[in-house]
Amino acid sequence: MRQVTEDELRGCFVNATDRELAQLPIPGLHETIWEEREYLGWRDARSARLGYLVHWQGDRLVGIVVRAAPGGMRPGIAAMCARCHSTQPATQVRMFSARLAGPQGEAGSTVGTYICEDLACSHIIRSGPPHLVSRERVAWRAEGLEQRVTRFTDRIARDAPAA
Ligand SMILES: [Zn+2]
Repeated sequence: MRQVTEDELRGCFVNATDRELAQLPIPGLHETIWEEREYLGWRDARSARLGYLVHWQGDRLVGIVVRAAPGGMRPGIAAMCARCHSTQPATQVRMFSARLAGPQGEAGSTVGTYICEDLACSHIIRSGPPHLVSRERVAWRAEGLEQRVTRFTDRIARDAPAA
């Protein structure tokens, strides 16, 4: 993804409350390897349930606040992240919900989805034995990840006021 600045980050969230924005933890942007990211995802160290997912939809930067479901999944089974399609131990995949932008979200509507628990799908699709991380395979998985992230953020941002 294209690099983002702290100001852009602060201004891009479509479904955050004022309080969530005021307390937004800014991730380490200087350490980020942008060309190996389809989206920027991070969890909140102070609030265990909150997470943030930011990506470019064309020229528009769209940020979504997500909330991890309490409890997590039963250990010992496998689960699949709905964004990167990696199958992992269930403890590493989490159900997150995101409030819709606009009036629907204010009325309490949310969308739920399974995502890698650390919101690091871009890292997951580039990790593993060499035959799983060939250039072609990573490019193919990155494209799928981008499409599925866009589908998700589109659904959340649909009623957001135009930026
Ligand atoms: Zn994932």
